[in-house]
Order: sequence, then C-alpha cells, then structure tokens
Amino acid sequence: MHIDIRDLQEGENEFTFEESPEALHIHDETLHFVLPIKTRLSLYKLGASITVKGETVFHLRHECVRCLQPFEVKEAIPLHFVLQQGRPEDLEDDSDEILIWLDNKAEQLDLGTEIKDYILLEIPVKPICKESCAGLCAQCGENLNVQQCDCTNEKIDPRWEALRALKDT
Ligand SMILES: [Zn+2]
Ligand SMILES: [Zn+2]
Repeated sequence: MHIDIRDLQEGENEFTFEESPEALHIHDETLHFVLPIKTRLSLYKLGASITVKGETVFHLRHECVRCLQPFEVKEAIPLHFVLQQGRPEDLEDDSDEILIWLDNKAEQLDLGTEIKDYILLEIPVKPICKESCAGLCAQCGENLNVQQCDCTNEKIDPRWEALRALKDT
C-alpha cells in the first residue's frame, strides 16, 4: 500500500486499494482470505500532519474450533491514525498507537504495516461459526448442529460405576 507523500495536496486526499494479504505484509498461511482486502482511505494533510481515516474490509474463511466446519466472516474495520513528519531526533518512545512519526525525507508511505496490525487484532484465535454451535459428538463425531446422535454423552461418575459393579455381582 504505497502512497507518494509528494503527491498529497493540502486538505483531503482519497484512496482506494484492493490488495492481497502479502501486499499488507500478512504472511500467515493459516489465514485464508477469500477476496482481495479492500481499503478506503482519506488522508487529510495539514502542513506536516496527515490525519488518516478510513475502513478496511476483508473476508476470511475460518474453520470452527467446535464443529470443524468452514465458515466465512466479513469484517469491516474503521481506521484512524495520524502521521506526523519531522521526527524529533531525541524522540525516545516511538510506540504511540495513534501518532506515527515520519522521517523528514520520507517520500513514500507504506501503510501496509499499520493496516495489517488493525486486521490481525480483529481475527479471533478460536473462531466459532456461531455462539450456539453444538460442536461434534466426542464419541461418534456426528455434527450436532446437523443432527443428534444416539450416544449417551453423560459422563458416568466412576463412583456410581463402582456401585453398579457391586450390585451386579
Ligand atoms: Zn461450529
Ligand atoms: Zn455420538
């Protein structure tokens, strides 16, 4: 996601991008993006300060951790941060989430890393197809969202088992 700073006009500058995950520096092969990642950006330049607002939209194919079925989600993430040219030389802490310093001589902007961070924050570690997903039967593997199986899934208390064994003898 490259933007030439020299081409920016004072005031509003609009951009749209349709990119692959790789263009946004996402190299995680466990993430299955379905369509190009669409980003709409408005860069408002005021002197050495550029306010970035916009939205990134992506579709991701997950596998549900409960029922193991694939499902797709669409996410739309609002973006908002500020780029500031003229990084002070004695600047120590450069880890502000909103304010990003640019070198005075910077001519090209690559916002891919920033957008990547926004995207990765939204991706669940344990995706679930729906909150009510019943998952798979631990015994026969039936997808319980589709149909009930005949297994008795109650866990038998081992103490009752011992009693039952005594009774049967
Ligand atoms: Zn599920
Ligand atoms: Zn079962």
